[in-house]
Amino acid sequence: MSIFIKNIMAVNADGIQKGADILIEGERIVEMGTGLVRDADRVIDGTGLVAFPGFLELHCHLRDPGLVYKEDIMTGTRAAAAGGYTAVCCMPNTKPVTDSAEIVRYIIEKAEKSGYAEVLPVAAITRGMRGEELTDFAGLLKAGAVAFSDDGMPVAEDKMILAAMERAKELRVPLMLHEEDLAKRGNGVVHDGENARQAGIAGIPRAVEETMTARDIFYAEKLEAPIHICHVSTAGSVELVRRAKANGVPVTCETGPHYFSITDEKILDRDPNAKVNPPLRETGDMLAVREGIADGTIDVIATDHAPHNEEEKAQEIEKAPFGMIGFETAFPLTVTNLLDTGVIGLTDIARLLSKRPHELLKTAGGELKKNGPADIAICDMNEKFVYNKDMIVSKAKNSPFLGMELKGRVCYTIRKGKFTYDRQAD
Ligand SMILES: [Zn+2]
Repeated sequence: MSIFIKNIMAVNADGIQKGADILIEGERIVEMGTGLVRDADRVIDGTGLVAFPGFLELHCHLRDPGLVYKEDIMTGTRAAAAGGYTAVCCMPNTKPVTDSAEIVRYIIEKAEKSGYAEVLPVAAITRGMRGEELTDFAGLLKAGAVAFSDDGMPVAEDKMILAAMERAKELRVPLMLHEEDLAKRGNGVVHDGENARQAGIAGIPRAVEETMTARDIFYAEKLEAPIHICHVSTAGSVELVRRAKANGVPVTCETGPHYFSITDEKILDRDPNAKVNPPLRETGDMLAVREGIADGTIDVIATDHAPHNEEEKAQEIEKAPFGMIGFETAFPLTVTNLLDTGVIGLTDIARLLSKRPHELLKTAGGELKKNGPADIAICDMNEKFVYNKDMIVSKAKNSPFLGMELKGRVCYTIRKGKFTYDRQAD
């Protein structure tokens, strides 16, 4: 199949090409320039639209195997494609845990058969994510895992995290760390602040995240071992990473759209969809996260897409599980809260959602160019819409952004030269 995209603004991390014409044949971009006239099976008029390199999600939960009543590889990747993603890394807290080559292969094979995006499994650091014994890193890598994480069940023991850092360094594979001291969290549910007290909900202090972030930066520096810090949510964590980078510590990090878009005011009405871990913080934290994105302290925007079914999220906020869906709102939230507020420019969107994630995983892609992969997100930067349940592609509907007006929409997603999302047709 061939696709010809006419007269579009092509945005890469390192520059913008206006009035670009892009010809796709098979799985690759075979021509990219201006003033081209070409025949193709399908022609897209890109006038008024923007093309980004397909987004790469570093951190999501596809719930497959074992928890497919929440989401599965087909529905999850379909939602990802609707958000402009062409590849996603899925976290290992599946059932059973993704700690064996067999499960890694199951995920990859199912994604190849029924997926709308490439799925790159993140395998567990410890067996069963119990924090007691390292998994077989080399075997898991061979099976197709791209990184390691005990996301959701952070590695508490210092000697375990040290062993994991040494192993990951040796194998040159990213170690993605969910920074949380579970003992300090206790029965906390939301950010520990004035709003939690007003709503009468137990709080999670910033220190729960920051002390673990500091510990892992400390060890990463000692071992000269690269680490990637997941979902940074506090001003203090941003500052810890900023200082570490300035000191030459090999640390990278991500944040989620919810941390730069909303605050813990959202929990005042006890909305379980606003319950997420780490929790939504205060305005000062939100602004610090934006600043960290602007100055490059924060490398990547990753959604932490965490689907739950309606029954689970209909419980009281104390009982409902942590997490919110994120694939389909990441791009509009980035446009609404980072681009339109002047925090970042257009090319930064390509950097934060595509180029840097590709660099961290050392995967091909993240750039629109001749002979590059035909992985493209075509977006309308100006379209405004009110986000509602009917437009959600994911199996789950747990979003705190329902009812909000957002700007910026994905129109088409192309992966390996094929449409994985076409808003008009879908
Ligand atoms: Zn996490």
